[in-house]
Amino acid sequence: MRATFLPVARPWIGEREKQLVLETLDSGWITTGPRSEELGRRVAQRVGMPHGIAVNSATGALHLALAALGVGPGDEVITAAYTFVACVNVIEHVGARPVLVDVEPDTLCMDPRAVERAITPRTRVLMPVDYGGHPCDLDVLLALARRHGIAMVEAAAHALGASWRGRPVGGWADVTAFSFYATKNLTTGEGGAAVTADEALAERMGLLSLHGMNRDAWKRYTDTGSWYYEVTAPGFKYNLSDVLAAIGLGQLEHFDEMQRLRREHAARYDTLLADVPEVRRPAARPEAVHAWHLYPIALELERLSCDRASFIQELRAENIGTSVHFIPIHYHPHFRATLGHAAGAFPVTEDAYRRAVTLPLFPGMSGEDVEDVVAAVKKVVAHYRK
Ligand SMILES: *Cc1c(COP(=O)(O)O)cnc(C)c1O
Repeated sequence: MRATFLPVARPWIGEREKQLVLETLDSGWITTGPRSEELGRRVAQRVGMPHGIAVNSATGALHLALAALGVGPGDEVITAAYTFVACVNVIEHVGARPVLVDVEPDTLCMDPRAVERAITPRTRVLMPVDYGGHPCDLDVLLALARRHGIAMVEAAAHALGASWRGRPVGGWADVTAFSFYATKNLTTGEGGAAVTADEALAERMGLLSLHGMNRDAWKRYTDTGSWYYEVTAPGFKYNLSDVLAAIGLGQLEHFDEMQRLRREHAARYDTLLADVPEVRRPAARPEAVHAWHLYPIALELERLSCDRASFIQELRAENIGTSVHFIPIHYHPHFRATLGHAAGAFPVTEDAYRRAVTLPLFPGMSGEDVEDVVAAVKKVVAHYRK
């Protein structure tokens, strides 16, 4: 067994990030300013979009997108039952009704047929979630949204670096939200971005991200700025600090290298786990470039005499950290009470959850780390094999 604990994720902060943070601290400008502007612009550029706004979380980016689209009471927003609560919370924040749909068994991404059945005259937004870094069936979902005249706001917290049918994630939806949370493929500690092709929407999200003050209000403390500003809407406080944006700019410089390492580790897992029938490996469709944010396996519980919880406990005893993505939305007490879905409402989501174990995957891990994880998985499997 490993001598030291291997976490499920760990950020990779290089010398360049440290240098840019120190430069920012010395610059005298540590809140939102030129570096956050640059990060928003560069993320947009990466995915081929004209507008990008860096904010302090993906949650904020999703909330801003819904608010800027004017979604509110009486409206419905369709999202996946198998996602992080942030996606559903923001729908409630704007006063709209979350409508959950099931996912597809291979990718665990939103099922377009379920979406089609869930659309009503009240549907305003479709919010797909690119599970684990695998893009949703974006062309089909976008066509569906266009046909019904509804907007698409993509929760791509996992999927910077992914693409679908040759077009980057970020280049499909009306607004795409990325997360720069500590565990994500690109991190600023806490942070996120919204990208869009729609200039008016970008302008509105920028305005709402800082109290509703006009877009360049941050410049009021510079030599070119003015003390005067106007508030045209009651905005939020979602702006990103330049200290954190500096980390993101450093991360962007070696993002391709980090993605290459994630792909390499995922491929090694695939190879080493191929002869373990008790473990189902994550799928990647041929149309997808997978961002490999997560490496979630599904336990073939029918072949094992344990449940997922004890499997995780045994891996922990082997010094291997894991996680579970996700606890289905309708299992949480709040959403059980407000949405009223009974167990069994989303069979694919519920079955996936019962089996789900996310294995460690991050660029800074070594090939031996991957081998240690697989050795531990095989040991636990052998112990519980029926
Ligand atoms: C991380 C994550 C979020 C939230 O991102 P923050 O930047 O922490 O707000 C939302 N949705 C999914 C699917 C996530 O994984």
